[in-house]
Amino acid sequence: MPGGDMAKPLLGCPNADSDPNLASAPSSRTIGILGSGDFARSLSMRLVSSGFKVVVGSRNPKRNASLFPSAAEVIFQADAIKKSDILFVALFREHYTTLCDLSDELSGKILVDVSNNAEINHHRESNAEYLASLFPACTVVKGFNVISAWTLQSGPRDGNKQVLICCDNQEAKRAVAEIAHALGFTPADMGSLFSAREIENIPLRLLPAWKIPVFLALGLFLCFYTYNFIRQVLHPYIWDKKNKFYKIPVEVVNTTLPCVAYVMLSLVYLPGTLAAIFQLYHCTKYRRFPDWLDQWLQHRKQIGLLSFFCAALHALYSFCLPMRQSHRYLLLNEAVKQSTLGFAALVISTLHTLTYGWTRAFDENQYKFYLPPTFTLTLLVPCAVIVAKLCFCLPCLSQRLRLIRNGWERGRNIKFTCPRTSGEFSSGETSSTV
Ligand code: NAP
Repeated sequence: MPGGDMAKPLLGCPNADSDPNLASAPSSRTIGILGSGDFARSLSMRLVSSGFKVVVGSRNPKRNASLFPSAAEVIFQADAIKKSDILFVALFREHYTTLCDLSDELSGKILVDVSNNAEINHHRESNAEYLASLFPACTVVKGFNVISAWTLQSGPRDGNKQVLICCDNQEAKRAVAEIAHALGFTPADMGSLFSAREIENIPLRLLPAWKIPVFLALGLFLCFYTYNFIRQVLHPYIWDKKNKFYKIPVEVVNTTLPCVAYVMLSLVYLPGTLAAIFQLYHCTKYRRFPDWLDQWLQHRKQIGLLSFFCAALHALYSFCLPMRQSHRYLLLNEAVKQSTLGFAALVISTLHTLTYGWTRAFDENQYKFYLPPTFTLTLLVPCAVIVAKLCFCLPCLSQRLRLIRNGWERGRNIKFTCPRTSGEFSSGETSSTV
C-alpha cells in the first residue's frame, strides 16, 4: 500500500516555476464538484478565480445555478462526472450512498473526500475509507477538510494555509496537491488513506482541548464573583442600607478577575506537584497517572493562557479605573507572558497579595457576613503549590525524584547512576543501589 511520510511537504512543495508538471495552466483543467452547498460554492469561487474550469454536479442544477459564479457550469451529477477526472465530493457521509447509482460513470475517477465528522472517531473507519469502499473503481483522496468554506471564499490570506492530503495512490495525491497549491494553499503529505482517520479529527481537536479549561475559568469566575458580590454589594446594602449596586459591572468584575487569574496560574503548577508526589509515593515513573491527573497535565497550557487572559482583562479594567495599583498589575502581566517566568509570576503575585492584604486579614471590618476577604481565599491553592515546590527542593526529595524521573524504581535490584543532566529540582551526579 503506497504512502508518503507523515506531515512531510508534499512532493517537495510543488512550485510552478520549478516543477514542469505544474506548468499546465489551471485553465486547461476541469474540476468537478458534487454537491451545491456552502463548501461547494466557496470551492467553486476559489477554483474559478484561480483559473480552473469548474463543473458542479447537483441533484437540482436549475434551482442552484444562481448560487454559483457564472463561470461555473452547474449541471446534473452524471453530466458533471463525465466532464472531469477529479471530483470533489462536497456531500456529507450520510449521502455518499446516493451516488451509488452513478458507480459506472464514476469508475476510474479521482474522488476528493472533503468531509468532516460531528464527533472525534465518530465511525470505525474514516469517511474517506468508507467512500473508497463504496466506489472501489475510484481513487479516493482525503483533503481540504481542514479548510473552512469561509477560508476558501476569502482566500488563504490569513489563518491556516495547510491542506492535509492522504491517499494510497501517489499520482492522485500529487494531482490534488497541485490543485491545492494552485489555490494558494500549502499541501502536506499525510501518507496513506488510513491517515484520513487522523485528518478528520483535526478540525474537532481545538475546542475539546479548551472545553475543560474554559469551564474551569467560568466556574471560578462565577464562584469568586458571587463571593465578591456578597461582600461588596449585598453586605453594605443589608447592613448599612447603602446602595452599591453600581459596583456590579466594573468593580466586582475587577476584583474577581485577578482572583481567577491567580488561582488559574496556581492550577497550572498544581498537577506537576501532584504528579511528583504520585511518583515519590509509588517510587516509579512507569505507573500511569490517574486519568483526571493525566487530563489536567495535558490542559496546563490552556489553563495558563486563560489565566493570562484574565490578568490582561484585569489590567484593562484597571486602566479604566483610576486604581493606584495598576502599575503593579502590569508588571505581573509582563511576567505571566513569559512561560518560563510563570512560576516567578505566581510567587510575585503571592507576595503582592500577601503585602496588599496582610493588615486587612486581621481587620475585623473586612469580615462581611463572617466571610474572609477574597484574597485570603485565593491564597490557599497558590500557597500550597509554592510550599510543595519548596519541599521538592529539599535534597532528600529532589534527588529521589530525579532518580525516579530517570527510570529508577523501588524494588528493582539494579545499580543506577543518574546521568549528568539538569534535573528539574537539582543537578549533579547521584548514584544509588537498591
Ligand atoms: P451543505 O451546505 O449542507 O451541502 C451539502 C450538499 O449535499 C447539498 O448542497 C446537496 O447538494 C447535497 N445533499 C443534501 N442532502 C442530500 C441528500 N439527502 N442526498 C444527496 N445529496 C444531498 O454542506 P456543506 O457545508 O457544503 O458541507 C459539505 C461537505 O463538506 C461535508 O462533508 C462537510 O463536512 C465538508 N466540509 C464543510 C466545510 C464548511 O465550512 N462548510 C468545511 C470543511 C469540510 P445538491 O442538492 O446539489 O445535490
